[in-house]
Amino acid sequence: MLINLIEVIFLINQNKAIILVELKIVFLGTSGAIPTYERGLSSIAIARGDEIIIFDAGEGMQIKFIKSKLGINKKMKIFITHIHGDHCLGLLGLLQTLSLMGRTKSIEIFGEPRLQEFVLINQKILTFKLNYPITIHTIQKEGILVEEKDYHIRVCLADHSILTFSFILEENKRPGIFKIEHAHKAGIPESQLYSLLQHGVDIEYKGKKLFARDFTGPSRSGRKIGISGDTRPSKKLEIFFKGCDVLVFESTFTTQEREKAIERFHSTASEASLLAKTAKVKKLILTHFSSRYTNLKLIEMEAKINFENILIAHDLDVINVPYPEKN
Ligand SMILES: [Zn+2]
Repeated sequence: MLINLIEVIFLINQNKAIILVELKIVFLGTSGAIPTYERGLSSIAIARGDEIIIFDAGEGMQIKFIKSKLGINKKMKIFITHIHGDHCLGLLGLLQTLSLMGRTKSIEIFGEPRLQEFVLINQKILTFKLNYPITIHTIQKEGILVEEKDYHIRVCLADHSILTFSFILEENKRPGIFKIEHAHKAGIPESQLYSLLQHGVDIEYKGKKLFARDFTGPSRSGRKIGISGDTRPSKKLEIFFKGCDVLVFESTFTTQEREKAIERFHSTASEASLLAKTAKVKKLILTHFSSRYTNLKLIEMEAKINFENILIAHDLDVINVPYPEKN
């Protein structure tokens, strides 16, 4: 049914329409410091709607990036947790390959102060030119780092041997369920007006004021994804990752190698899962395994003592993350 637009006067224009978007986590490298035949160096991509958000770019991750068919010219951000080689040496290769493959859209890159120097010096020495602009942002402080229309990215200091960041991608709250029967009773025809009311826009229709709050249930949570980077577990990270729908946490060692984990500022599987439990996350995905483990059964077993909902990441795994109410 068509609406006579003259009949509709918007009292408040807060058109923050949030459309439902698919979100998946794609693992582009799941090994610790040394790659194996099966596992490449650290890299995790979050494909959210038309955007790709990459956390770390270990050497060779571009091969998995291409295999995963994430797309070469989508909106893209890259976050580097720290500048150990196994987390950042693949950045140059990825940037260059994207250029050679015809990328034109700019990329925003985030990391510690020396990241900019690392990229610029290499660009100069290697004389590689990119077909698209890049902006390298230095992470100055903890807190909200990026604010997009319907999600934000927060950063927190991890506990590693050099300056290292952990990240959270959190979506904004979404409108509540629309009470269609209320709308029918109020004589509002099925139209775009339903969407406007659901998104918090009060309207005047045929001389009658209609308030969005009368037609919509309580707002619903978005998704919250945590990325640990390399780190020891800490109380600070436990608070930071509180309530994540999915937490991707490093799990370099088994309990038997706990001394090494402490010495090298990494986590054991059991420590990662204990943090997930106390932080009340819904799902834990373990990654960044030492190349000494050809079989990850022990890692999985030790982790499951503390926390049941665990996945062991493999290169090219794709994990769909549904909205909380659909989980
Ligand atoms: Zn490291």
